[in-house]
Amino acid sequence: MENCIFCKIIAHEIPNYTVYKDDFALAFLDITPRAKGHTLVIPKVHALNLLELDDSHVKNLLLAVKKAQEKIDQVLHPDGYNIGWNHGDAGGQVVPHLHIHIMPRYNNDGGANMHAIVNNPGDESVEEVYKLFK
Ligand code: 5GP
Ligand code: ZN
Repeated sequence: MENCIFCKIIAHEIPNYTVYKDDFALAFLDITPRAKGHTLVIPKVHALNLLELDDSHVKNLLLAVKKAQEKIDQVLHPDGYNIGWNHGDAGGQVVPHLHIHIMPRYNNDGGANMHAIVNNPGDESVEEVYKLFK
């Protein structure tokens, strides 16, 4: 997509430090890493987020996440990971092309877990929320 910075990376118009690539996805080092080896995995097709990614690409994207993680594991030997993505403004998404963050974690690195992202459970009980799904 025109003017999409990650589409430009895929098109080699902007350089990147590639960790893993295949026909469907590219994994490259984040330019402002929050951890050693902080990597982004993106589908080669443009999609704003997972909901807009065609089902046929989802399996390939997750496979690329695994391959990139295997590579990071071999090279950097982190002690753990946080893996996920920001979706939408409220979720903190800045780049409008789906990208999965692979955040290597190291013992005593001072970080937290995913539960630290937000603590806003609302007033309704879990059971009340569940009823909304029925
Ligand atoms: P978001 O908040 O959208 O999930 O995160 C976007 C990420 O993309 C940020 O971590 C940012 O450092 C990274 N990023 C933005 N522009 C570039 C770029 O041109 N190259 C690389 N390698 N990473 C980028
Ligand atoms: Zn794009």
